[in-house]
Amino acid sequence: MTYAFPPAAIATLPIVGCDLVFPVHRVYCIGRNYAEHAREMGHDPDREPPFFFQKNPDNLRFDGVFPYPAHSVDVQFEVEMAACLEIGGKDIAAASALSHVFGYAVALDMTRRDLQGAAKKLGRPWDIGKAFEDSAPCGPVHRVGEVGHPARGEISLDQNGERKQTGDLSQMIWSVAEQIAILSQFFELRAGDVILTGTPAGVGRVAVGDVLHCRVAGLSSLGVRVA
Ligand code: MN
Repeated sequence: MTYAFPPAAIATLPIVGCDLVFPVHRVYCIGRNYAEHAREMGHDPDREPPFFFQKNPDNLRFDGVFPYPAHSVDVQFEVEMAACLEIGGKDIAAASALSHVFGYAVALDMTRRDLQGAAKKLGRPWDIGKAFEDSAPCGPVHRVGEVGHPARGEISLDQNGERKQTGDLSQMIWSVAEQIAILSQFFELRAGDVILTGTPAGVGRVAVGDVLHCRVAGLSSLGVRVA
């Protein structure tokens, strides 16, 4: 079998302290997974079943640059911890779900909030607001052997030196293990899947020239310039 033309390259993430790279399969994102963020978006953070959307693997970007995208005047940051899987599966039990994780990274779920809002109002998919080029700046992956499974510790974002988002991983409504278990009931998870595990309160809009500094305790921080 020969391709009719060269296929697109597989998206990859750098791995801390390692020359190998993490090959990305899919990117899943959970919505409203920190109560204060659910409230700021106008929703009740009660433990209603979680919901997920996807970004495209090649929306990930690692060079610290976020090009301001077209057709939006309200592009917002959401700092999130990314859980990167090395083992897939279906109907994974929450009790064993963390054994599927390769490592963790700091990521941004950049969002064209105005386009997402218009889609919500019309009952349309969110893709145009979420799954656009360069919408997932990401830091390097730390292996579980190095950092364990972070379940508590500060997650924060500074915009131009000013603290905008602050939370603690322990405030997730659905834990990483629960997210893997639930996703695996609806999708067949695969090695290389990346899960963006939700953002704490304080999301806000960016402007060209902004510098974002994103941190999760114990992981390499992610610095991003809006170009
Ligand atoms: Mn998000």
